[in-house]
Amino acid sequence: MIEIKDLHKSYKMGSNSLHVLKGINFSVEAGELVAIMGSSGSGKSTLLNIIGMLDEADEGEYDLDGIPIKNLNETKAANYRNKFLGFIFQSFNLINYKTALENVALPLYYQKMPRKQRQEKAMKYLEQVGLKEWSHHLPSELSGGQKQRVAIARAMVAEPKVLLADELTGALDSTTSYEVMELIQKINDQGNTILVVTHETDIAQMCKRIVYLRDGVIIKDEKVKQVRAKAHV
Ligand code: ADP
Ligand code: MG
Repeated sequence: MIEIKDLHKSYKMGSNSLHVLKGINFSVEAGELVAIMGSSGSGKSTLLNIIGMLDEADEGEYDLDGIPIKNLNETKAANYRNKFLGFIFQSFNLINYKTALENVALPLYYQKMPRKQRQEKAMKYLEQVGLKEWSHHLPSELSGGQKQRVAIARAMVAEPKVLLADELTGALDSTTSYEVMELIQKINDQGNTILVVTHETDIAQMCKRIVYLRDGVIIKDEKVKQVRAKAHV
């Protein structure tokens, strides 16, 4: 699903350059639930943003579902991003003046799906994350955990090949974090491929594989016995 070979990325700042990813080799098969784990500044978000086609590497190869991701024009990149990838962020990134249902339906609007179909599909995904009753509420009327569930439904509604989550529990207390991870595990149980960036060991252990990043290098990559989140809720 994802194949990365010898990836490098530097940030230029004036005459200085910060080498952030220093030769990353990494692949992910369909159906995996992978944690990318490392301390702050280790390059996790940089790597996830390249995988998510929000940024480009300086060197190396990246194939997504067999397609080489390199030198794509903006339109093509946007198309692939919408079709292949679903994003979940620490800060939810919901639109404040739109209801839960409208937020979830938005990716389908960009796909030019007719309104009625959009709403039906968005409702189906809201139901999957347990928020059918909250569909007409605004984000400001929802708890942090509920907002992240809406964001998860929005990430899934276009049926992407991969879900990418950057510190998705970072703004949540631990009980709510585990509830959100329980949902992530359920979605993965259904066969969806998910990458979770985190600096928290307990969250990483709820995945099936942990890739440890330190100073832009993968120092360990291992399958783990998954801790089910439900036991903690
Ligand atoms: P993590 O997500 O693991 O905390 P990041 O990938 O965000 O790490 O950042 C890795 C390093 O790159 C950090 O030192 C950070 O300050 C730097 N960095 C991240 N984004 C930029 C940017 N847009 N411009 C310059 N430096 C950046
Ligand atoms: Mg980060």
